[in-house]
Amino acid sequence: MKKTLIIGAGGVGRVVAHKCAQLHEVFGDILLASRTVSKCDAIAADIREKKGVTIKTAAVDADDVAATASLIRSFGADIVINVALPYQDLSIMDACLEAGAHYVDTANYEPLDTAKFEYKWQWAYQEKFQKAGLTALLGSGFDPGATNVFCAHAAKHHFDEILSLDIVDCNAGSNGLPFATNFNPEINIREITARGRFWKDGAWQETDPISVGTTFDFPQVGPKKMYLLYHEELESLSKHFPSARQMRFWMTFSDSYLTHLRVLENVGMTSIKPIPFKGGEIVPLEFLKAVLPDPGSLGALTKGKTCIGDVITGTKDGKTKHYFIWNVCDHEECFRETGAQGVSYTTGVPAMIGAKMVLEGKWQRPGVWNMEQCDPDPFMADMNRYGLPWHEQVLPENPLAHIEA
Ligand code: NDP
Repeated sequence: MKKTLIIGAGGVGRVVAHKCAQLHEVFGDILLASRTVSKCDAIAADIREKKGVTIKTAAVDADDVAATASLIRSFGADIVINVALPYQDLSIMDACLEAGAHYVDTANYEPLDTAKFEYKWQWAYQEKFQKAGLTALLGSGFDPGATNVFCAHAAKHHFDEILSLDIVDCNAGSNGLPFATNFNPEINIREITARGRFWKDGAWQETDPISVGTTFDFPQVGPKKMYLLYHEELESLSKHFPSARQMRFWMTFSDSYLTHLRVLENVGMTSIKPIPFKGGEIVPLEFLKAVLPDPGSLGALTKGKTCIGDVITGTKDGKTKHYFIWNVCDHEECFRETGAQGVSYTTGVPAMIGAKMVLEGKWQRPGVWNMEQCDPDPFMADMNRYGLPWHEQVLPENPLAHIEA
């Protein structure tokens, strides 16, 4: 029987644990481990009550490679699903190599002291995972994750050549709170306040943060203002689809959210540089995280839908083709099923499916892989099966073609 170790008991960890627990034949015994074991215990109790399944729990500091390797070894994990924070990626990868387990995560490694989203640190593990005969699957959330698989599906079934990609991400959920982030506030704010970046004609172009915006009509949601951001999947997608002349990422934000963020930035609360405080030091953003609502607690409050997809232009049989592929998720339905809101759900379900692909051997290949390097078909079939149905449409024209960044 297989053994699955999930690390991280936040909103995403909750969804991964719920989803894996429903597939005993794939994931076998499940151990949910995190820094604060009481959070694992609360999730385990909920799974026992809702699904009648018992999972094990443990405390672990995933920054500590030896402790994490020892946990992997003593439990006998075949795979580790890392849904802690991006800071832990390398230490958990090292622990997997040391103890002989496959690895899956949902966000690329970030050093604590610089908000830098780059795959170089994790891609450097390619040879080590190859030599160990282990698979490391990177970025198996929604974006990155499903959006990469959508692109691979489009390349396989709809296009001879992809020329442009716009990833559009809308969270139209409302929680009634003046300001809250829908996943880890520190990671979320680091991402949004960074300079925008997009791929054009073989080079990265930069923009000021949240300076380029347009309106997009999202299916089942309606028109929403969205802004150009840098997002990590652009790095791997531009490498793996070199025909693309342009790749961009857009995310929706309400005016109120942006006003709060601007004020917090202006007073220095989003800074990650330590400052002296009462004889010690604090990092303003870490303090801000401590006073903002825990995203894991937003499930019961959040209503509305998420809609995330890829708008692609390319060529097929010598003709230009425009295409859109997307998923819509309802926050309240996600909460009923797992006790988490839609953003945790849309991240946790692909993390479960990615791990399933590896355990079932469909995506098991020694080395370090981004999602678009794997066959999209079984993953796309499982998205329909496990709560993230997708839709696709050929468009008469590309609605974002005229938007210049
Ligand atoms: P949370 O902050 O809610 O949860 C993170 C969990 O990791 C917490 O339980 C935390 O423990 C635990 N943790 C933090 N540090 C350690 C450590 N050193 N050792 C062990 N456990 C640790 O985050 P989310 O659930 O919202 O997000 C989880 C991951 O998913 C993040 O990496 C995020 O970037 C990623 N993500 C990816 C998306 C995608 O689409 N690809 C979208 C959204 C999120 P404690 O409770 O003690 O702090």
